[in-house]
Amino acid sequence: MIYVTDLTEYLICPYKIYLKKIKCLPMPQTPEMLTGTLIHKIYEEVLSRERIIIEQRIQEDMEIDEIFKILYADSKRVIKNVVIRYREKLKDLEVNYLDLIKELQEELKEDELLKSIQIKKYISIYGKNENLYNNLFLMKDMEYQISSNELGLTGKIDKIEYDQDGNLYPVELKTGIFTNGIKKHEKLQVAAYALLLEKEKGIKVPLGFLEYYQVNQRLPFLIKEEDKIEVLEILEKVKELLNTEKEPIKERKNICQRCGYNNICWDSKSKSC
Ligand code: SF4
Repeated sequence: MIYVTDLTEYLICPYKIYLKKIKCLPMPQTPEMLTGTLIHKIYEEVLSRERIIIEQRIQEDMEIDEIFKILYADSKRVIKNVVIRYREKLKDLEVNYLDLIKELQEELKEDELLKSIQIKKYISIYGKNENLYNNLFLMKDMEYQISSNELGLTGKIDKIEYDQDGNLYPVELKTGIFTNGIKKHEKLQVAAYALLLEKEKGIKVPLGFLEYYQVNQRLPFLIKEEDKIEVLEILEKVKELLNTEKEPIKERKNICQRCGYNNICWDSKSKSC
């Protein structure tokens, strides 16, 4: 099976897939990669817990600051637990884990405050009813594992949201800030998930989202037929690379500076597995 992330990596640099899959060289982790992974885990955990917290711990007569205290205390706990789990790895990469905890806790503050305001507003109009969560935050599946034997493609969707008409939308969680438009590989990733969802559920998935959760930015975009055709074309190219094991041309680009294979590509010879 080919992973959706293999397609996006191929689009960024086919040589990366060659090193990873043909030469079997695990990519050395950079501090940015590790903190990105941690942030991803934290947000997934926070989002997957929020429904229970809202339903079980928020009371109708609570003020915004009380709601905020509950939501934020839980998020802070998640951040601390996740970062501490990776403390040794962070130390190896010379990242101060205590500073990281503080930084991430600060980043989530505004997000939780906004949620608290939304919750209070809803409760003051409708009361705390069973629709509170679904009306304020779309129903979600987190970390949804999906595969198609027909395509030979598999992946894990960060989040699937459902609306009340039965439509569903793949959402890709992103770290950092949205700048310079949606990147080609980001669009390809969400289009690939839409294609997999269409195969599995037998419904059309014409819209997806990129969610920059650290800055609370959310970008919807249409998934067109041509995007899905591109997914299939890249999938074929990746399959061909894996079958032929032919070494792609290596090109030095700006992204090489942030790539974990930088030293392997440009400083020393790669080894075979
Ligand atoms: S260092 Fe550059 S050429 Fe090498 S795998 Fe990374 S992106 Fe590709």
